[in-house]
Amino acid sequence: MTERTATCACGRLQVRCLGEPVRISICHCLDCQKRTGSVFGMQARFPRETVSVVSGQSKAFTRKADSGNTVTFHFCPECGSTVYWELSGFPDVIAVAVGAFADPHFPSPKVSVYERSRHDWLGGLDADGMQHLA
Ligand SMILES: [Zn+2]
Ligand SMILES: [Zn+2]
Repeated sequence: MTERTATCACGRLQVRCLGEPVRISICHCLDCQKRTGSVFGMQARFPRETVSVVSGQSKAFTRKADSGNTVTFHFCPECGSTVYWELSGFPDVIAVAVGAFADPHFPSPKVSVYERSRHDWLGGLDADGMQHLA
């Protein structure tokens, strides 16, 4: 079974994911831009039972999503990198920041959301079979 480890920038917080993600997406929303400091976020959802924190501690930051649900981000208190988060609307999954895997061969995203706030210069990022949502 595929085993991947996501880590924060300083390496203290490590999360292990077993098997393949059930959803891989990029998000152009302004909150993801603020959180990452980049112009879009990319995340992979894994079934909750396949994700475990193997080292380090995290602090949590919760915000309300447009849907009214909440998102709770877990980040390393030392370096500030967000590594994973929980979605109150989807309690059976854990979302993990794809960049935290530091793996250029990670599978491509299949859905692109909040394209209404996508930076103009990005154009349409078209991975194989990607679905685009405004
Ligand atoms: Zn860290
Ligand atoms: Zn977002």
